[in-house]
Amino acid sequence: EAKKIKKNNYLYYNQKMIEQLKRRKKIKNKLQNALKNNGFSLKYQPQINLKTGQADFLEALLRLKDNSFSPGEFIPVAEESGLIIEIGRWVTKAAIKQLALIKNQYQAEITISINFSAKQIRDHGYLDFLKKNLKKYKIAAHYLEIEITESILIEDNKAITFINQLKNIGVQIALDDFGTGYSSFSYLSYLKTDKVKLDKFLADNFMAADKIDTLINLINLLHSLDLPVVAEGVETKEQYLQLKAHNCDYIQGYYFSKPLAKDQIKAILAKNYLNLI
Ligand code: C2E
Ligand code: MG
Ligand code: MG
Ligand code: MG
Repeated sequence: EAKKIKKNNYLYYNQKMIEQLKRRKKIKNKLQNALKNNGFSLKYQPQINLKTGQADFLEALLRLKDNSFSPGEFIPVAEESGLIIEIGRWVTKAAIKQLALIKNQYQAEITISINFSAKQIRDHGYLDFLKKNLKKYKIAAHYLEIEITESILIEDNKAITFINQLKNIGVQIALDDFGTGYSSFSYLSYLKTDKVKLDKFLADNFMAADKIDTLINLINLLHSLDLPVVAEGVETKEQYLQLKAHNCDYIQGYYFSKPLAKDQIKAILAKNYLNLI
C-alpha cells in the first residue's frame, strides 16, 4: 500500500512538473511573438507628491496586449529564458518615446520609471542603447528613472559598476520593493539611489498601532540619508492619511489610481490628486 502511495505521489508531481514546463513554454512563445508582432504595451501608474498633489513620476508597467498572462507570470519566464534583455530594451525605448510625446504634445515635465531585472546587468550594449535613444528622442536623462531591487546587488557583483554608469549618464535610480528582501542599510550607503520605494507589504502590515513606530523610524532613517520615500500599494484613505502624517513623500497605489493606458496620461498630468479627496 505504502509503495502504491509513493508511486502515485511520484506520478502526481511528475504530472505537475510537465504541466509547469508546458506553461513556461507557452509563455515563452507568447513573449517571442509579442517581441515580433508589437504585442507588448505599457501601463502608467502615477506617483503622487503628497506636498503638491501632482503626479511627479509615472511607473511604466509592462503588459501583454492580449492580457493572457500577468507580469508576475511572464517576467520570471522572460528572465530565465534570457528574453528579458530584448524586452528590457523594448520597454526602455517605449518609455523614452512616451517621454518625447509628453514633452512635445503637452509641454509637460514628468519622470517615467521603468523596472529593471538583475539579468539586464549582462546586457553589455545597454548603456549605448540607452544613450542613443535619449539622444534620438531629445530627452534629458533625468526624465528617466530605473527601478532596481536589492536582489540585483546580491546576484551580481558587477551591479554597482553598472548602476554607477547609469548614474553617470544622468538617469535616476530608485530602490524598489524595499522591505521585502534583505533590506540591508549598508547597501544604501554605497549604492547611490535617488529614492526608495517601500513595498506594498509595509503598507499592508505596518500600519497597525503596534507596528507603526517601525514604519515611522524607517521613513525617518531614509530621510536622514536624504532619500525621498514612496509608499507602494496604498489602497485606503487610512493608509494615505497615516503615511502623509508620517512624512512619506510619494504615494503610488489604487487609492489614487490604477496603472492606466497611455491615452490617460494627459488627464493624469492635469489632475491634482489631493483635491479629489
Ligand atoms: P513593481 O515594480 O513593484 O510594481 C508594482 C506592482 O504593484 C504593479 O503590478 C502594480 O500594478 C501593483 N500595484 C500598484 N498599486 C497597487 C495597489 O494599490 N494594490 C495592488 N494590489 N497592487 C498595486 P504589476 O504591473 O502586475 O507588476 C508586477 C511586477 O512585475 C512589478 O512589481 C515588477 O517587478 C514587474 N514588472 C512589471 N513591468 C516590468 C518591466 O517592464 N520590466 C521588469 N523587469 N519587470 C517588470
Ligand atoms: Mg517597480
Ligand atoms: Mg515595487
Ligand atoms: Mg514588485
